[in-house]
Amino acid sequence: MSGDAKGMGDDEQVPVAELSDDPCFDAINMLNYYLDQELTETIRATITRHIESCHGCLKTYEFHTELRVVVQRRTVTRVPDDLRARIAREIGQ
Ligand SMILES: [Zn+2]
Repeated sequence: MSGDAKGMGDDEQVPVAELSDDPCFDAINMLNYYLDQELTETIRATITRHIESCHGCLKTYEFHTELRVVVQRRTVTRVPDDLRARIAREIGQ
């Protein structure tokens, strides 16, 4: 229980974030939660460490960080799954 969650809007449930054995998949898969700062400290640190050493994921995170700013200016939405899948394919996973 953390009784300090007022003003957070919808109480959307965060899925249990589990790391697989594919760090690139995890990094892309959890990108939105990462940007929303909805991950646990441990997983966040793991992903941070990965993108610092993985050029493909770093580029993707930079791209999404910029994209998110653009998107938020227009409408509140998440990156579509097909776009995410396309990016995952582009970084060669
Ligand atoms: Zn990677």
